[in-house]
Amino acid sequence: MKKQYLFFLIAAGIIAFFSACTNETGYKTLIITGQNNHNWKASSPVLKQILDETGLFSSEIIITPEKGGDMKAFNPDFSKYKLVVIDYNGDSWSEKTNNAFVEYVKNGGGVVLYHAADNSFPLWKEYNEMSGLGGWGNRTQKDGPYVYYKNNQLVIDTSSGIGGTHGKRREFLVRTRVTDHPITRGLPEAWLHGTDELYSLLRGPAKNMQILATAFADSAAGGGTMRDEPMLMAITYGKGRIFHTTMGHADEGGGPSMHCAGFIITMQRGAEWAATGEVTQKVPWDFPSAAAVVLRPDFKEITLDEAFANIGNYDIAKSTKYLSCLQSHLRGLAGDEAGLLNMEKMMVKVLSDNKATAGSKKLLLRELSWMGSDYSVPAIKNLLSNTELKDEAEFALARIKK
Ligand code: ZN
Repeated sequence: MKKQYLFFLIAAGIIAFFSACTNETGYKTLIITGQNNHNWKASSPVLKQILDETGLFSSEIIITPEKGGDMKAFNPDFSKYKLVVIDYNGDSWSEKTNNAFVEYVKNGGGVVLYHAADNSFPLWKEYNEMSGLGGWGNRTQKDGPYVYYKNNQLVIDTSSGIGGTHGKRREFLVRTRVTDHPITRGLPEAWLHGTDELYSLLRGPAKNMQILATAFADSAAGGGTMRDEPMLMAITYGKGRIFHTTMGHADEGGGPSMHCAGFIITMQRGAEWAATGEVTQKVPWDFPSAAAVVLRPDFKEITLDEAFANIGNYDIAKSTKYLSCLQSHLRGLAGDEAGLLNMEKMMVKVLSDNKATAGSKKLLLRELSWMGSDYSVPAIKNLLSNTELKDEAEFALARIKK
């Protein structure tokens, strides 16, 4: 008996030890920054938050010496990490650091290249093979072809010209080109991205590279090529995997390009694939559609409680996401009477709240018309005297009584 008890304690201890390890550490991730023609002080903490939010990564930020500083002092031990994220566009690293990075990737290390990281190191051959495509830094035909989609065909274009441009910042549609890659599996065919630069005319070696998603660079916005330009890429180098996103031009606090749920979720999925070769994360309910940009001001998926706390202030410009959250939960509960009744009770609370807007009540009445029960009838009847809501209330009552 005593022996068995001791065995139990040891086994429990081992399990506790391992779960403590996985919970606290996640995949060790190094975010490299410190020089950039962009606001790296704004973007790097956002990247860290986006990755750590998944619970899969444990990331730290390393800041290189500043421009013109002694780059020999920048000499991280890459082998300690499962993933290296590059938010850097600046002075060359030392030869020793370059070699260590190449060894790290060759041996199976994961890399995420973010936005202007593909402007970096135009003369470093191996780095350009990892990025697949790059821009600016006097890149021309000597650095490799342009690669893009035209009329839904992949084009490898060796014509001469500059590498890298972008038009005015705007919202744009991202099209998924590969649907069976772990990163893009389950994503919509097209989705609207928050205001960002649309990188165009990228060129490079483009070896072992798959273009996962593109965006059409319309000439109306300036800098337009009238081509579908690569936005998300998956590249292999030796045993290593590289996820390359051209999106995410940062403003203070991240801005709409980094708050975009599409940017956040593709970053999280791309990082997991680069680190492990698989993606275990589900596509969250708030992944954007082609119809509307979805912003996550705090980078987190919205919870149902938050949706109910905010939906009463419904304003079409600000909070369609709360309605989408509610609708997504309702869809998931179809056929579950108890679950739907529970939701109905919360919806009736908003209907009966004098402070809730007519707009939010209209939306709830529309949902109640298909899933409401006798429970909501008295609350809906109370709205018949409200001229703004009368039509929706009558419609809902007629359908509920059927
Ligand atoms: Zn930029």
